Amino acid sequence: MIPRTHETQAGPGLSRGVQPPDSQEAAGPATPRLLIHEVGVRLGPQTLEARAVLSAGPHRFTGAATAGAGASRQDAWQLAAAAAVAAIQQYLHHCTTDPPTPQLHLTHIALTTSASGQELIHAAVRLAQGSFEADLLGSAPLRNDPCTAAVAAALDAVSRRLGLFPLRASGPSPAPPAQAHQSAEPAPPPLPPEQPPELEVASPSAPAPRESASEPALAIHVSATAIRAAAIGAAGQVLAEARRPARPTAEPRVNLSLAIEAAREALAGLNHSAANVRAVGVALPGRLQPDQGLCLASGDFPSWHDVQVAGPISEALERPVTLIGAAQAAALAESRYGAGEGLDDLLLVRVGIDIDLAVIAAGRPLLEERQTPGQAGHMVIDADGPRCSCGDLGCWQALANRDSLVARVLRALRAGQPSALLAAVDNHLGAITPALICRFAAAGDDLSRRALQETGRYLALGLANLIALFDPQAVILDSSPPAVGAALLQAAESTLKSSPRARLFSRCVLLSPSLGDTAPLIGAALHATARLST
Ligand SMILES: [Zn+2]
Repeated sequence: MIPRTHETQAGPGLSRGVQPPDSQEAAGPATPRLLIHEVGVRLGPQTLEARAVLSAGPHRFTGAATAGAGASRQDAWQLAAAAAVAAIQQYLHHCTTDPPTPQLHLTHIALTTSASGQELIHAAVRLAQGSFEADLLGSAPLRNDPCTAAVAAALDAVSRRLGLFPLRASGPSPAPPAQAHQSAEPAPPPLPPEQPPELEVASPSAPAPRESASEPALAIHVSATAIRAAAIGAAGQVLAEARRPARPTAEPRVNLSLAIEAAREALAGLNHSAANVRAVGVALPGRLQPDQGLCLASGDFPSWHDVQVAGPISEALERPVTLIGAAQAAALAESRYGAGEGLDDLLLVRVGIDIDLAVIAAGRPLLEERQTPGQAGHMVIDADGPRCSCGDLGCWQALANRDSLVARVLRALRAGQPSALLAAVDNHLGAITPALICRFAAAGDDLSRRALQETGRYLALGLANLIALFDPQAVILDSSPPAVGAALLQAAESTLKSSPRARLFSRCVLLSPSLGDTAPLIGAALHATARLST
């Protein structure tokens, strides 16, 4: 993982976006990254004009925005953001392979100061593609030049979602360097030389150094799908990684042994001495008691009750071990390096077998050390609903988790409703997965689509309650694989938008995570390093 430097670059080739079902092929080869090439503002006698030039490979995309009489240099950075949105629109026209082209409109731009005193420019961009609409939120730190920061904020907002669209450069392959002057549109004419004093051309600023420890940390993420271990560098990058398939129905000690094996392999894969790794962080789904190193219960591992996790791993690796909920870890990572970077108030909802919640408030994680961090999945949504793993009726996760999506499809199939899914799995109902359902829903299978919409509706009910409670700037909806997360997010979003309470939610945007399934590892490493230094 390369740390994000959104001040200067963003694009669908990065890991921040997610692909919709069936889009892997449509996305084709990686599209060149979208970079800030130039930002200029000119104050004339009657007008203020801003121009943003973005580049992707050899191509240039130019947007301009003009304000009339009365405009002052104070308006310049807002105008620069509008110019950036116009340039990104050009880029989308060039790249979109699946019409209609998304339409962008800058709806809000503001300068705020975070709890830590950092000045940030926030941009909100309304995106519409066919019947799909979303408000995208982005931010960038204000450094020397507010116009460049405003362009970076607009780019950040859109780039969080670029991966949702099938994008591929529609022209010929990017030209080799010798022909780099060829572009999708003519290179922007230079501004008139007779007015140089009125032109401000800003160079993209260098990324700020990150506050971080200098040593790598070892992180382990245990989930029903895989047990992963990774050495994570001081800037959040994966230095070495190993994985083992999880065995959810096996005894706890079997899975802990697999975690230790993977950890040793990751340590062995480090170039330098593993002795530099002092901290070990373990991310787990379910209910934890971190101060005791215990997993109290986990939907991913039904036989786990009061399992001592930290002790055996610490003993085997001869290092201190800290525990953190997988959702908390993902939220830490996303807020530091990912989709939530620069936001002070955000929620991360992780939809797996459990639905877990993590809260970042005023820039700091909440509930991190509590015994049962973020068990939002057990909010009762329907008092007469199906029975949950906790024994109660109608919990959110019983109605909106990944298993509930599969259960809806199975019920409909057993009731004799037709679907192309049946043939696809050769009548083996056990082979139906959330990912398969999402793929068939995207391809127009009616039964799959209805099941997805109903799951999204219940997901939206819980999200609406959380948004009403916390009033966050953003909710990151995380599920694995990312295509399932994206489909659930879209289904929930359409319900939220049509809710009578929609006005209450206008400040909040729904985002896909941008660090993928590496986020719990990065967050566990951040957490372990922070614990060790206190
Ligand atoms: Zn429950």
